[in-house]
Amino acid sequence: MPDVTYPDDAPASAALFERARRVTPGGVNSPVRAFGAVGGTPRFTARAAGPYLYDADGREYVDLVCSWGPMILGHAHPQVLDAVRSAAEHGFSFGTPSENEVLLAEEIVARVEPVEQVRLVSSGTEATMSAIRLARGFTGRPKVVKFAGCYHGHVDALLASAGSGLATFALPDSPGVTGASAADTLVVTYNDLPALEAVFAEHGDQVACVITEAAPGNMGVVPPLPGFTEGLRRLTAQHGALLISDEVMTGFRCSASGWYGLEGPYAAGPPDLFTFGKVMGGGFPAAAFGGRADVMAQLAPHGPVYQAGTLSGNPVATAAGLATLRGCTDDVYARISLVADTIATHASKALSEVGVPHVVQHAGSMFSVFFRDEAVRDYDDARAQDTVAFRRFFHAMLREGVHLPPSAFEAWFVSAAHDDRAVERVLAALPVAARAAADPAAADPAASSERTLG
Ligand SMILES: *Cc1c(COP(=O)(O)O)cnc(C)c1O
Repeated sequence: MPDVTYPDDAPASAALFERARRVTPGGVNSPVRAFGAVGGTPRFTARAAGPYLYDADGREYVDLVCSWGPMILGHAHPQVLDAVRSAAEHGFSFGTPSENEVLLAEEIVARVEPVEQVRLVSSGTEATMSAIRLARGFTGRPKVVKFAGCYHGHVDALLASAGSGLATFALPDSPGVTGASAADTLVVTYNDLPALEAVFAEHGDQVACVITEAAPGNMGVVPPLPGFTEGLRRLTAQHGALLISDEVMTGFRCSASGWYGLEGPYAAGPPDLFTFGKVMGGGFPAAAFGGRADVMAQLAPHGPVYQAGTLSGNPVATAAGLATLRGCTDDVYARISLVADTIATHASKALSEVGVPHVVQHAGSMFSVFFRDEAVRDYDDARAQDTVAFRRFFHAMLREGVHLPPSAFEAWFVSAAHDDRAVERVLAALPVAARAAADPAAADPAASSERTLG
């Protein structure tokens, strides 16, 4: 364990970032990795093992990103590694069906009771995009309802945000998303059933589906209020719309059967479709959508709704996913729960001791720390936090050898490989970081890097 505090500058990562920016927009292949929200140099990982990342400068960090969720067993887990090696020895991709696809589908269907059939894809984005197409094809209706602050991947129709007004037609959230693709999207405030009721009263017979994060983690962790998911099910059923529960983040993490395993079954019935990704790919590109057999029957080649993928059900990715799911024993869930609770409790204690306003929110073992003192129920609440205090906190944790998600709007992820040594390091770092958060004069690499990042 390093007693040293790492410096803010990371020369080897900085050199790689410089090269990366010449050949890749912003130097990264997914925006949050660029440290845009916190400033400074994103750490380029050279290797990862168990609960640790090792960067290009040879520094060791306790990893609280866990690849944004997939690495629930820790990095390079021996059983997953064996499965990947032996799958790869038998070929990388066939373009024919293979047994691993059946095994992974069976594993998912066995775990999530309402899911009768699944289709495998390669990313969470593809899963939600395909689920929406299927819902539109099945219902013959155009409109999709989503909630502000919920992220479902970079699907055009879902890269939309609410315009002004209580509940309104969505505006494109990114250049390149046409008004036409956002026009069939309606954006509603999360945890606000009356707002959803109003949307259904106006557009009910046009709505193909409501898509929601099973328990949102992409605006920080904002669990559904009691009765909210039940209300979604009731309203969608009343109006002949499908309910899509996006469990890409929560699936097989919140419990063996995801958020549904914690909150379901619902008196009004289960969601019609689910989407999965992250954990079920074990760190490889594998994701899925699935649900009611009569809805899934509409998919090609059985039905008319087209959906396909050259690498869908890839034999190496499915082997990694299957080994990961099989490795997710009760002991694993018990461990991540304990680790998450321990870290969350100590984070809150450290921040309280120095008087930094904060609130810790949980959805099972998923949790995040908001830098504001009131409960966060929706995206507007989440945005009303002190992101500057967060970035001082973030950089202090990094100096102490703990890699948090580089944004105040993210869940913190732990794995079953987070052993006592790793947890101790996090606990030792928290009071230092809390003091930095409390101190406006604390080092803030964001201030100096804004120029170069801009
Ligand atoms: C990560 C995520 C996605 C997108 O998955 P990708 O594999 O990044 O395309 C979709 N929905 C939720 C809830 C997610 O957390």
